[in-house]
Amino acid sequence: MASSNLFFDDIRNKPEVIDPPQNEDLTDIGESVNDPAQTALKPNVTVSSSVRELLECPVCLNAMYPPIHQCSNGHTLCSGCKPRVQNRCPTCRHELGNIRCLALEKVAASLELPCKYQSFGCIGIYPYYSKLKHESQCVFRPYNCPYAGSECTVIGDIPYLVAHLKDDHKVDMHNGSTFNHRYVKSNPHEVENATWMLTVFSCFGQYFCLHFEAFQLGMAPVYIAFLRFMGDDNEAKNYSYSLEVGGGGRKMIWQGVPRSIRDSHRKVRDSFDGLIIQRNMALFFSGGDRKELKLRVTGRIWKEQ
Ligand SMILES: [Zn+2]
Ligand SMILES: [Zn+2]
Ligand SMILES: [Zn+2]
Ligand SMILES: [Zn+2]
Repeated sequence: MASSNLFFDDIRNKPEVIDPPQNEDLTDIGESVNDPAQTALKPNVTVSSSVRELLECPVCLNAMYPPIHQCSNGHTLCSGCKPRVQNRCPTCRHELGNIRCLALEKVAASLELPCKYQSFGCIGIYPYYSKLKHESQCVFRPYNCPYAGSECTVIGDIPYLVAHLKDDHKVDMHNGSTFNHRYVKSNPHEVENATWMLTVFSCFGQYFCLHFEAFQLGMAPVYIAFLRFMGDDNEAKNYSYSLEVGGGGRKMIWQGVPRSIRDSHRKVRDSFDGLIIQRNMALFFSGGDRKELKLRVTGRIWKEQ
């Protein structure tokens, strides 16, 4: 990856980085990879921050796990970064070789640290080596913004994201579990950029995102509509939804289970887990002259017992 090469060059060109631990220059880079949760944790850490700094990989700034590598000068490096530095220590540029830093691995094993989602409400404290596993499943871990039309990097809990969708993406908010939408596009042959505004439904004390968009399925332009649940997968399974699209005497009905927004919009779309409408069918539904796409989608969300 070109950007990571640039990054390594950057480190090498800064002579002051040679003496560890000089983390000030590197901290900024950590923020640019966008992990606010980790930065937010720092004031709350109970373990002396110098030990934590020792366990931070100088390249990716993530916590290091065995095998932790070191160069012959003692600079450490995580096992994820090691294959990417072409056998050169990113700190002193000496050959890296294959030396493990067992002492540091043992120090790590004796640590207990708070979950990195502490600021989101998690009060768990975990042994260093099981912390990562917990964090990958922590119920307090923030969600990504479910908006599909942009590369939005906002994360947060559900109430925060609902406010964000409303205020920053200006999405349509609907109360109730039934809907009746019309999607119109004047030139149905331009499918590439046909993504309609996300709609958010509020019902059963929960929030659901209705996506509708055009995409290319192999050579064929198709439309897809699907629902995502703003919450975790185990809760999403308590709901079902149906979508119906029709016109000109034809009708298609889809019944599905909303997917958690933990699954990216793209992942759901690419697994075809929704109502898929071939363009020709969509034009039948639109009626008339095939010049305009005019799809009426009705739907309902309900709770299973
Ligand atoms: Zn690393
Ligand atoms: Zn070194
Ligand atoms: Zn946690
Ligand atoms: Zn967003």
